[in-house]
Amino acid sequence: FHLRLWLEVSFSCCVFLFSVLVFVSEFARLFHSLVEWTIWRVTQQLEMAKVLMCSDHDEKLKLFCKTCQKLVCVICRDGDKHARHVFKPVKEAAQINKMVLKAALNFLDKENGQFKSLIHKQKTEITKTEDESKTLLAKISAQFEEMHQFLRQKEAEAKKQLENEEEKVIEVMQKNLSMIDLRFTESKKNEDILQPALEFDQPDHFLQWWSETGLKQTEAMQTGNGTPSNTQYMSKVNDLIVRTGSFFLGPHETHLQFFVWKEMLGSIKPVPESLTLKDPRSAYLKVSPKGTKIRQADRVTGLYKNFNPGTVSEENFQTGQHYWEIEVGEKPDWTVGVKMDAETQLSATKSAESEILLHLKHSKGYVLSWDGEDTTLNTRDKPQKIGLYLDCERKQVSFYNADNMSRLVQINYNLMKPCCLTLVPGLYLNGINCDPLIVCSYKFNTGNR
Ligand SMILES: [Zn+2]
Ligand SMILES: [Zn+2]
Repeated sequence: FHLRLWLEVSFSCCVFLFSVLVFVSEFARLFHSLVEWTIWRVTQQLEMAKVLMCSDHDEKLKLFCKTCQKLVCVICRDGDKHARHVFKPVKEAAQINKMVLKAALNFLDKENGQFKSLIHKQKTEITKTEDESKTLLAKISAQFEEMHQFLRQKEAEAKKQLENEEEKVIEVMQKNLSMIDLRFTESKKNEDILQPALEFDQPDHFLQWWSETGLKQTEAMQTGNGTPSNTQYMSKVNDLIVRTGSFFLGPHETHLQFFVWKEMLGSIKPVPESLTLKDPRSAYLKVSPKGTKIRQADRVTGLYKNFNPGTVSEENFQTGQHYWEIEVGEKPDWTVGVKMDAETQLSATKSAESEILLHLKHSKGYVLSWDGEDTTLNTRDKPQKIGLYLDCERKQVSFYNADNMSRLVQINYNLMKPCCLTLVPGLYLNGINCDPLIVCSYKFNTGNR
């Protein structure tokens, strides 16, 4: 016990001693650096206090040559090197040059302030853009989540429908199986009664069993139509059948994706906007009562054969983003586009700069008209529907092949005026181009959804 105590005490002593040593060495290190720093400061001050001497003449540098911007001594002043130079006493020269330095510093200070503010502004913009991107990311996620949710719901519904069908079909088969089972059990019981009788060795025992049980039992199995030489038994199997199960979910089995996709369209927001077309009450242009279709009126005579009037939308747009789809079908000639400042457009004065138009020209293919210039578009597609995206904020008009959502062309404009849609049903072409242009509507009767 003493030994243990002694060991513990000596161990604690060692730990204490070690801590003291560490403390002392740390203190010595600090003290050393303090001394070093003081020596450095004193040396610096001594250096500063030292009078500067001319290295050439060993005289005090008492003058400042303004011409050379250099310290000089009185002997230097009289030398050839500084002939006709202007000198100032050091004190005065230092004052003057300090002023210059102050002005420079002032400028730097102002500039640095501007740097700081620029850095701050740029950093703020970076954060703002990052935040914007994050918000957009969240928006994208939310929109996809909505679609995923819809699809998951549809998937669950389809599976539930299958489950219900399965339940119905299996129930019928289960009932049939129970009936077969029941008859099998009865038949088996019969067999169990009759089988052991074959084992009777004594004829009297067998006959006694026969008259009591066997005869009745076997007679019950017969049809009664047989003859003694040809006994006929009643089958309890013959009228049984094996029920097969099958179900069919119709289009939700054979055309599942297309049907679900079409259903999904009803839950999508936003869809292409609807429009009302102005009816200019022209004898050559037919606008449908609801203002969603236009076509050329039938030309009875050859007069005005090539007269090709069009119309514009009632609605004007100056803010936000808009998307429409126009069904052009198989029409060989049409024009779809955007007009700025429609009020003057409907009047006779026409300025080509303020419209962006996509034509299908019967003779030339797809042509983009903008700023009074026509550009032929090289596209192999022949869309049945044209999508038009108008971004009033970025001042852009884009045309899409709305059959597959590929972009045909995009144009930047710079007019501030409100825009409207313009549609021209195209040349009559002896009646082959009399199909209407239709503003597509995606307003579904969505029922209780
Ligand atoms: Zn000198
Ligand atoms: Zn000089």
